[in-house]
Amino acid sequence: ASAANKAPASGGARRVLLFPLPFQGHINPMLQLAAVLHARGLRVTVLHSAFNAPDPTRRPVGYRFVTVGASVPIADLVPTGSHGNFAEALLRINERLETPFEDSLRELLLEEEGAPPCLVVDSNLRGMQVVAHRLGVPTLVLRTGAAACLLAYMAFPALCDKGVLPPQDHLQLNMQLDGLHPLRQQDMVFSATIPHETMSTLIERIVESSMCSSGVIINTFSDLEEAELQKIIDGMGVPVYAIGPLHKISLGAQSSLLAQDRTCLDWLDKQEVGSVLFVSFGSLASMDQEELLETAWGLANSRMPFLWVIRPDSVQGSGKIALPDGFEEEARGRGMVVSWAPQQEVLGHQAVGGFWTHNGWNSTLESISEGVPMICRPHFGDQMINARYVQEVWKIGFVLEGKMDRDNIQRSVKKLFCHKEGGEMRRRANNLKDKATQCIKKGGSSQTGIDLLVNCIMALPS
Ligand code: UDP
Repeated sequence: ASAANKAPASGGARRVLLFPLPFQGHINPMLQLAAVLHARGLRVTVLHSAFNAPDPTRRPVGYRFVTVGASVPIADLVPTGSHGNFAEALLRINERLETPFEDSLRELLLEEEGAPPCLVVDSNLRGMQVVAHRLGVPTLVLRTGAAACLLAYMAFPALCDKGVLPPQDHLQLNMQLDGLHPLRQQDMVFSATIPHETMSTLIERIVESSMCSSGVIINTFSDLEEAELQKIIDGMGVPVYAIGPLHKISLGAQSSLLAQDRTCLDWLDKQEVGSVLFVSFGSLASMDQEELLETAWGLANSRMPFLWVIRPDSVQGSGKIALPDGFEEEARGRGMVVSWAPQQEVLGHQAVGGFWTHNGWNSTLESISEGVPMICRPHFGDQMINARYVQEVWKIGFVLEGKMDRDNIQRSVKKLFCHKEGGEMRRRANNLKDKATQCIKKGGSSQTGIDLLVNCIMALPS
């Protein structure tokens, strides 16, 4: 274990240790939460693995950063290849970091004067939570997904016991799940490549970490998921804090792992209001060469302006991204491709009128916060659940079903921008944006949630 910069003299407010799962979609909300708690006067220490460590040049002033398990080979923590390996990586991260985390925590506890710290841990890091409890450190859990997702995870074991999951044949895939409207069996088949047993273990650990905590913090807001939040409160038996959208409360928390290409903001300045489709599939999802080609032609043929994020590692099995011949000429002036965008600013830009997304929860919430309707193409994990809510509950987008071919894509883009249906989705998305704006104002539900959370942290037993 290695400690970074020395702790400032203690005293006064309690210290909060925060340990994110080392992936972009988990680091962002955890560092946003850190900023929120720091702004409320709590002292903040961010624990992190050497893999996907926060950029040392952009660390917020006044925090402490501690590397956990600096000597653990990064290859042990990195997911490689398919989604199946991502699930394995989650389990390995817990296993490999447990002992180094214990060492770091012991060191931190020795240094700390006054009230012992508490730990806010990602709900995927059950292993760290067990260690913390063993050393007498109380924990809160951050869920970086939707309340709907946690509710579905809570129901998962019983659905397996009843034989409803995993689906036994194709006919069952469309079956609605009792008590989980609008979810169907297929929305809870989290990946074609993750074995059911591995998925069950991961979900069991997430639910366990939530239930064993002193409180669950969820990056959502009550007007968005009121019924789901109530069911979680009823079912969990621990306090639940809905305090999102975190990125709108902690403006300026810098946690991008990749360099953002900000030239796209200048390009957006030159486009008409509400005219641009933003296309981005998050930090992990990938496509094959054929899908890349179809996406390129679908976008070009739609004749709508687009801003497309193609990460260097987002095309399977190729070291180099090869866009089809003729695409650049066809899309010139109308389209821009970047390798990583300042997504929150892009979605908030007046030129952006639609978002083609994989429905990672951060992307979904960022889109909702800006009133941007969505074309949904979920890949794995909780993304199917999020897409289902976008289409069926909030009605602010629709799922691009079937094969990713150019005609299908072109039709979807037209539907979002040119058809009446798309206009209605845009109107509803704007209504939700207003609600998101209200809840983060003084006295709004998420601000009240933060007040309660801070009180809870201050009152945790030592
Ligand atoms: N993101 C970004 N630039 C990009 C694409 C994504 O900053 O070009 C950010 C995005 O704003 C979001 C995060 O990366 O906060 C992705 O998280 P999400 O939960 O949407 O998906 P994941 O990457 O976990 O699949």
